[in-house]
Amino acid sequence: MTIRLALVGLGKIARDQHLPAIEQTEGVRLTAIASRHAGHPDLPSYPEIDALLAAEEAEAITLCTPPQGRHAQARAAIAAGRHVMLEKPPGATVTEVQDLARQAKAAGVTLFATWHSREAAAVDAARDWLATRPIRHVRITWKEDVRHWHPGQEWIWQAGGLGVFDPGINALSIATAILPAPLFVTAAELSFPSNRAAPIAARVAMECGGAPVEAEFDWRQTGPQTWDIEVETENGTLRLSHGGSRLHLDGVEQMAAPDREYARLYARFADLIRAGQSDVDLAPLQLVADAFLLANRHQVEAFEE
Ligand code: NAP
Repeated sequence: MTIRLALVGLGKIARDQHLPAIEQTEGVRLTAIASRHAGHPDLPSYPEIDALLAAEEAEAITLCTPPQGRHAQARAAIAAGRHVMLEKPPGATVTEVQDLARQAKAAGVTLFATWHSREAAAVDAARDWLATRPIRHVRITWKEDVRHWHPGQEWIWQAGGLGVFDPGINALSIATAILPAPLFVTAAELSFPSNRAAPIAARVAMECGGAPVEAEFDWRQTGPQTWDIEVETENGTLRLSHGGSRLHLDGVEQMAAPDREYARLYARFADLIRAGQSDVDLAPLQLVADAFLLANRHQVEAFEE
């Protein structure tokens, strides 16, 4: 049976990734949109989710809105008996997503908290290679130009918008998927622009099975962008680069495959719905929350677009 799907929040990621991926996914059909300032030329479009839920019978809802406010939207969808897919980060707090997981279970619907970077081409191979190798040291370097990737996105700088952890959580989603032991935060330094409520840069120290993990996130990077994770083990060094799509082992490239992250997410969402299951892993969001809990805070130069 084809799953009818409605999308809420027609912004950058919805247009860049979700619409093409839905189009490519067998057994899933986009039937409606809810967005305050945008609509789809060929589909019923509503200004907000409540109107959509009242008028449409779509079995599944994807939320592509900012994390602040997502909880109320997801609760409404679950209460209306719909399966829900959440963009990353799954919410503004850990406990609100735990609440959603409880609601979904009670309602008998699927909740899928997605981590698109885990679907990058080389992530599964990296996890398999690391599974049997004792880890000595991990270095995460995630540096990009906020002006290029997030132009005009005010929500990202507001409380709950995560700041540089909005991309940084992608690195943490990969690290928590490929490393063979759980991570925990031991220290953090956060740099807040004097005019913003979210950090523009962060250094986070973590531990994984006794090995040190150092992460550096920075939104002030111009020129080449860096989305790398390097893992030194007792039996060689692994390097994941380009956000998880390229893999080097001891300096030798193993694979470089095209991006199918969002197509894989929609195929998995359809599988979860058919199997009557949910997938809600909060480990990356918990690490970000713990970094905020432990952090020393520094004020840096004001950020203007
Ligand atoms: P965006 O371009 O700002 O789009 C979000 C859309 O949500 C807006 O266009 C807006 O559409 C709607 N919205 C509803 N309430 C809003 C509010 N209070 N403030 C602002 N917009 C609101 O953001 P995005 O980049 O698509 O990111 C959305 C989510 O996807 C975030 O969780 C982000 O982390 C994730 N994501 C983004 C990227 C990326 O590269 N941009 C990549 C992966 C994941 P209306 O005004 O029409 O309602």
